[in-house]
Amino acid sequence: MSEENKTKKVKKILGIKGMNDILPEDAPVWELLENTVESVLKSYGYERIRTPIVEETGLFARGLGAVTDIVEKEMYSFEDSLNGDQLTLRPESTAGVVRAVVEHNLTYNGPKRLWYSGPMFRHERPQRGRYRQFHQIGAEAVGFPGPDIDAELILLCQRLWDDLGLENIRLEINSIGNAGERNRHRADLIAYFEQHKGLLDEDAQRRLYSNPLRILDTKNPTMQDMVNAAPKLLDYLEKESLDHFEGVQRILKRNNIPYTINPRLVRGMDYYNRTVFEWISEELGSQGTVCGGGRYDPLFEMFGGKPTPSCGFALGMERLIELLKTQGDVNTTSKADVFIAHQGEDALPEAFVLAESLRNTGLDVIVYCTAANSGGSFKAQMKRADESGAAFAVLIGEDEVKNGCASVKALRSDNTADKQLSVPFEKVADYLVDQIAGECGCGENHSSHDCCSH
Ligand code: ATP
Ligand code: MG
Repeated sequence: MSEENKTKKVKKILGIKGMNDILPEDAPVWELLENTVESVLKSYGYERIRTPIVEETGLFARGLGAVTDIVEKEMYSFEDSLNGDQLTLRPESTAGVVRAVVEHNLTYNGPKRLWYSGPMFRHERPQRGRYRQFHQIGAEAVGFPGPDIDAELILLCQRLWDDLGLENIRLEINSIGNAGERNRHRADLIAYFEQHKGLLDEDAQRRLYSNPLRILDTKNPTMQDMVNAAPKLLDYLEKESLDHFEGVQRILKRNNIPYTINPRLVRGMDYYNRTVFEWISEELGSQGTVCGGGRYDPLFEMFGGKPTPSCGFALGMERLIELLKTQGDVNTTSKADVFIAHQGEDALPEAFVLAESLRNTGLDVIVYCTAANSGGSFKAQMKRADESGAAFAVLIGEDEVKNGCASVKALRSDNTADKQLSVPFEKVADYLVDQIAGECGCGENHSSHDCCSH
């Protein structure tokens, strides 16, 4: 402790409620999710777009609709005190992506398949599966009017769950038609709710005339029976909307994607039309929706763009991470292939030279560096080597420097022999690559975890 800190107790500053640190022990599971999603999206031809985390507040007010949970009470909005701009930390990314597509005229020569990943911010009550900073990965297929792209996005999600080894994520779909169909349904819905006014909770009363469709989405148990018997939007769809919905289902059926139609599925944002879908797990408590999406044909025009029928989804990474931790097969042990321990002034530079040569061959290498709170004996260093999960330790002491040979020690019982071998410095790289590639069984000249999961 420094002299200054001895005299006055320093108060720790903690992180913000509902905004989590993702610690190194969780890095492997996050990487598994990120890498799998990235490769699946690539395999369907989606291109990455990165938009800013901060946008003008008006973008969300206009894009999401004024009477949505997000705009009403969940946004982190503030005034930039330096110039008076009204800004908001993005609560979702579709609005930003659509803004960017319009601003850069990305669809000038045809439709685009896009995807994004990053933090979102909503001022919600923090609880399991619900945070104030959380992470989404999403896809937006812009400029595609047909049911084919809706089905493609759903198939893409199914492949993602399969590749991640996740089971029991069920699909619910619905069609919420177009504005005219919703208006006719809306009139009947309001009349129905008026007849049952005594059963409406505060939220529902407030929404009765502004956004009655959202009342169908209620989680209030005392309203369930009444809401179940309400007029169903599906019954108001006309031929074009029905054909579209039928088209989506035909592709899903032919590809053996199980689903249920949930006539009450409406989704939170105003901009959706026709197809909406959600992927739900029963293993996450009440925050079970891991992914939600749908078609948003009217949104581009709301932003001053030309008509651009589009469909997309967003998945909640924290909720999927929770599933992966219980269901998935994640390697969390190995931080490196090789750990280099050394002792003596002359050994240190040699350790660095050797480490660089090993990294040139593709191996991941940790060199012991002077550590606070622990001694630098070989014994202490070997303890670190074990903790690192490395398959091999390389030891360089004064004798090794003199002889020009390093001592190579296999650290895992499944390695060829549990003994120490003396290997000339210039041959260590070849020796380890052989050992590790052999262990990996692929015969290729690279580190173990480039090709399989150790
Ligand atoms: P919910 O009904 O759970 O509030 P939502 O309809 O607000 O979800 P979307 O805006 O569609 O969610 O976001 C897509 C996905 O992002 C959700 O299905 C969920 O997995 C995740 N998500 C949304 N809000 C949060 C949050 N506050 N914390 C963690 N994940 C979230
Ligand atoms: Mg929400």
